[in-house]
Amino acid sequence: MIVQCCVCQKVRKNDRWSRLAKPVNQNEMMVSHGYCPECAAEAFGDLYRRAQAREAARMTVVHAA
Ligand SMILES: [Zn+2]
Repeated sequence: MIVQCCVCQKVRKNDRWSRLAKPVNQNEMMVSHGYCPECAAEAFGDLYRRAQAREAARMTVVHAA
C-alpha cells in the first residue's frame, strides 16, 4: 500500500515524498490518495489559518473576574 499525493502525484516512501519516474501502476499496487504536506498546506491553508486565528482569538480573550 502506497500513498500518492492527488495534486502533485508525489509518492510517500519512508516518510519522504518524491516524484516517481513513471506513473504508479494502480493494478499492481494498492494506492491510497492523499495530500503531501505542501499540497495540504496549499489546499487547506485558509482553513488552517482560520482555525488558528479562531484559536488565537479564544486564547487572548480576557476573562473579566
Ligand atoms: Zn502534493
